[in-house]
Amino acid sequence: MTTFSFEFFPPKTEKLADTLWSSVPNLVSCKPSFMTVTYGAGGSTKDGTFKTIDQMRTLAGQDIPIGMHLTHINTPIDNMTQFMDEIWDKGIRHIVALRGDMPHDTVQPDPSKQYFAHTDDFVHALRARHPFEISVGAYPEKHPDAKTLDADILALKKKCDAGATRAITQFFFDNDTYYRFLDKTEKSGITTPIIPGILPIHDFQSMKKFAARCQAAIPTWLEKEFTSCENNSQDAQKRAQEILNNQVYGLKSQKIPHIHFYTLNKSQLTIDACKRL
Ligand code: FAD
Repeated sequence: MTTFSFEFFPPKTEKLADTLWSSVPNLVSCKPSFMTVTYGAGGSTKDGTFKTIDQMRTLAGQDIPIGMHLTHINTPIDNMTQFMDEIWDKGIRHIVALRGDMPHDTVQPDPSKQYFAHTDDFVHALRARHPFEISVGAYPEKHPDAKTLDADILALKKKCDAGATRAITQFFFDNDTYYRFLDKTEKSGITTPIIPGILPIHDFQSMKKFAARCQAAIPTWLEKEFTSCENNSQDAQKRAQEILNNQVYGLKSQKIPHIHFYTLNKSQLTIDACKRL
């Protein structure tokens, strides 16, 4: 059986909150193994992430653990250590440990303070502080800052050796990219599970902009699927569903044990794909 999990982000407007809170009960009914809530991305704050997790817990009950994403790039180590305790005291037991990206519109790191140099140092510190379950990010098409894929895999190995429980990949649309990445990571001695992160295409044009920032490839066949139909039309949604279902079916038939969905707080495409699992 292939199990699955869902990622959400804290809503910043009432409209986005309505979308999230109408999606969560539907997604919870699919019985995911766990759910996670992002932090820092697009300006979300600690309070926003905590509030979303609290509300999600009331809807999900005790059976579905909720993990919190945590980025270290602009938080001094002292503050982060306090934050780790606060998270543990709130009963959160799963951290998705990430570097994050430096926001352009906020205060840059304070030169008088100490920060984690790399995410493996952060994972070490989390491990040492509390027995968290720790997920980390992995990049089948290479992280944009890495010089080579091999160098990036070495960085991933350090995070795994530091105590990560699992890695979750950046989204990709060509499953072969993921299988090749699994081969390479295995050859480099990584034994930590590397879970595919899958992005349902709710809006092809916005997704393309996002993919360009992450340097995730849009295969020619995918571009062709959407250039022949109007963005956000019913036809586009139908194609997005077929593409997602095929991708998920492909992973399931290769006996990939778990799939993580970047839900974008929406339920329709993800639910249909999960039903097939
Ligand atoms: P890192 O592992 O820190 O790698 C970043 C770069 O540094 C890479 O080029 C890597 O090769 C290099 N590197 C790492 N360690 C070393 C080392 N020891 N020595 C030399 N080089 C090294 N962002 C948010 O702001 N909020 C979120 O909630 C969020 N959730 C995410 C969830 C997932 C599953 C993923 C895949 C990404 C998420 N992101 C999120 C985006 C992420 O923060 C960015 O992609 C960020 O640029 C990298 O973070 P990282 O921890 O994955 O990468």
